[in-house]
Amino acid sequence: MSAAKPDTIVVKVGSSLLVGEDGQPRRDWLKTLVSDIAKRHQAGDNVIIVSSGSIALGARKLGLDKGGRASLADAQAAASVGQIALSSLWSELLGEHQLTAAQMLLTLDDMEDRKRYLNATATLEKLIEHRAVPVINENDSVATDEIRFGDNDKLAARVGQAASADRVLLLSDIDGLYDRRPDSQTNGQFIGVVEIVDDSIMAMADGSSSSGLGSGGMTSKLEAAKIANLAGIELSIISGREEHPLERYALTNVGTLFKAGDGANARKAWLGGRLTSAGTITIDGGAIAALQSGGSLLAAGITSIEGQFKRSDVVEIKDLDGQSIARGLAEYDALDCAKIIGRRSSELEALLGYAPRSAVVHRNQMVLV
Ligand code: GLU
Repeated sequence: MSAAKPDTIVVKVGSSLLVGEDGQPRRDWLKTLVSDIAKRHQAGDNVIIVSSGSIALGARKLGLDKGGRASLADAQAAASVGQIALSSLWSELLGEHQLTAAQMLLTLDDMEDRKRYLNATATLEKLIEHRAVPVINENDSVATDEIRFGDNDKLAARVGQAASADRVLLLSDIDGLYDRRPDSQTNGQFIGVVEIVDDSIMAMADGSSSSGLGSGGMTSKLEAAKIANLAGIELSIISGREEHPLERYALTNVGTLFKAGDGANARKAWLGGRLTSAGTITIDGGAIAALQSGGSLLAAGITSIEGQFKRSDVVEIKDLDGQSIARGLAEYDALDCAKIIGRRSSELEALLGYAPRSAVVHRNQMVLV
């Protein structure tokens, strides 16, 4: 595992693996996972745990129906009760192997805002340097519907990116990706390796969580794989149904591996993994071709804009059918951008009343998605 350079591995554990049908933590299974983690840690690897389960655990304690997901207020209350139990569980089990657990509760904004992202990155780096084991969850007791990851798959990929991880392992109640739901009527084919998550791969997901306990289904796992790919990180979906899931995977290699992309630079990877934007810029075919061959986005190729974005806000760049092409930092605010839609570079100074910038979105501040 760790010959020359130690690996940094993010291990995401879903609610249905952590919490049994009785609403109690599945301690026996968890012990086998923690023993796998301890082995890797001892071999020099850095392990970061992204743990779900707070809502499922808290719902049971508070006696809430629908696993605590009937309303946002229920989920928030369940999460605050469950998270405290979850942290002490990880701390206790890791402690049995002389490992120090370090809790980080993150919100979507902590990852979307560049400064806060760098701040979280610094904390992760420090924890890793001190050989602690970060145990991360979304801060569900304050996250609202509009500003939340909602599933820990994407959170795990974002954390992997922040920690410059080598791989992300999504432990799931399914052993990987099937081209259809793997039930007896449809006979889904298992997909072992995915080079790139394109529309045909996305179409294989059905979006829902099969256990009903967590919120992540295959769609969120594939979205996580996209984020990881852009950041140059391998991601695997593996089964957590059996004991010692990490050792088992190392031995059998059973799971779906999503290959890492070339890895954009850190800023571009952060951009690529962002889940929100301040506005949309729609562009024509000529501009798409320019972007795809490494060019910047110029005003001439813009057909319309949406949203009240400010200069240096993140904007989504879409084609005329509304498909995302790229994401980048706007060089103009929406008001000025509106003045130069479709205009040639030579016309801009007169329209704006100041020396124009070299592009509306510069190629160094843009990532194709
Ligand atoms: N953060 C949620 C929890 O701890 C789980 C999100 C998910 O299901 O992925 O319960």
